[in-house]
Amino acid sequence: MEIRIQLIVDNDEQSRRDIAHWERTSLASDTLGLQIDEARGLLQISQDALVGAQVESFLSRQAVCSHCGRAHRLKGRHTIVVRSLFGTLRLGSPRYRHCSCEGSSSQAAGKSFSPLAKALPDRTLPERLYLESKWASLVSYDVTAQMLEEVLPLEEQINANSIRRHTHRVARRCEADLLAESDTEPRAEKWPTDNIPPPKPAITVGLDGGYVRWRDAPSRNEGWFEVIAGKSMVQEGRSDCFAFVQRTDKHARARIGSLLKSQGLVYHQPVTFVTDGGDTVRSWPQKLHPRAEHVIDWFHIAMRFTVLKQMAKSIEIRDADPEDPDDNPGRLLDSAKWSLWHGNVHKSLERLDTLIELIEHDPRVQDGPERQKLARTLNELTAYLESNRHLIPNYGDRRRHGEAISSSIAESTVNQVISRRFVKKQQMRWQPDTAHLLLQVRTRTLNGTLRETFQRWWPAMAPKLAPALS
Ligand SMILES: [Zn+2]
Repeated sequence: MEIRIQLIVDNDEQSRRDIAHWERTSLASDTLGLQIDEARGLLQISQDALVGAQVESFLSRQAVCSHCGRAHRLKGRHTIVVRSLFGTLRLGSPRYRHCSCEGSSSQAAGKSFSPLAKALPDRTLPERLYLESKWASLVSYDVTAQMLEEVLPLEEQINANSIRRHTHRVARRCEADLLAESDTEPRAEKWPTDNIPPPKPAITVGLDGGYVRWRDAPSRNEGWFEVIAGKSMVQEGRSDCFAFVQRTDKHARARIGSLLKSQGLVYHQPVTFVTDGGDTVRSWPQKLHPRAEHVIDWFHIAMRFTVLKQMAKSIEIRDADPEDPDDNPGRLLDSAKWSLWHGNVHKSLERLDTLIELIEHDPRVQDGPERQKLARTLNELTAYLESNRHLIPNYGDRRRHGEAISSSIAESTVNQVISRRFVKKQQMRWQPDTAHLLLQVRTRTLNGTLRETFQRWWPAMAPKLAPALS
């Protein structure tokens, strides 16, 4: 059998011509439907046919003056090259002199213009820009180039560098949008000062830091730079991530404001930040939000105790008194954890000090590497609790009131946002500013809002109601 696909423009029989045809003599797994080369060919031919018809129709309307109807005088012809998702288009573009009739402005009269060049200011079309930047936000620029070449009819070799440039361009436009949007936010001093009722639903933002290997670092000590990643969760609702390179980003506040706004919240509503209390993130909630409540992630604290209890199992105490809780590392740890759960940092530290005293100085404890390691880890924990004690709430109370005590997903946010694209391969090195740009596209891809962003810039990219082919 033979299948033929034909093009007809505006129901005009004279325009009918073959676009593609296929012959199939048998039906088998490898002959059913389109093969990749046929599909690519079909896309390219369809694109060329559609583009040819569109350009011809457009130019025929542009060839005459819209005021007096006289033909424009041709000044010259150029070829403009436009990169589409389905091939590079080389379009003949006439240059006309402006008409001298009264309808044309007197300034323009005599000067020349190129209607096609004016209509197509973007030499890489948005659909191509979209797919390039979306894929590049998920996999490396090289792999993106290879995948595009594999599935699309792009005859010339695609350059990973141009994909990188295009992706950065998309990110810069996102950043420009962010600044324009934040200009419309009320200034801090204009925020309502009366007590705002607790937001419903509550907003919790999990925040965590990660490290990315620095290319051309200014010094050997600075082999890495920090990225802050977070996820904003509305109870029972959607969650969205954001990320920025802390040394380059001057708009972190606007960034989170815009995200909260996109989740249907107003910026000055109180926000609970949940972090692991690490040095990277400790100071950020106050910087990010004027009404930030900052809580250490209970999950993170509980994990530390789990690790300590495991380590304590290998410690032997000769002639330990089974009745004395102070002779039992496991019970001391449980008690310290219990106090923390109820927000009693002071009591928890007392319990831990008793344990440290036992492990470090009691002659009944056998010396060895396990003992030293446990003592070191315990001291790290007390230092950690000391420096974060103002961020440790009464978790039990909070849970009873349905307030956030954990954001166990924050850590996975860092993996999702940073690790999988930036540090999976150890040899991958980044510049802080371009890593920041890529993060802006990547978070939009992960949040599923990149297409929306493009549709705002190019409204015709919105999904069509009817299928293109019927
Ligand atoms: Zn005219």
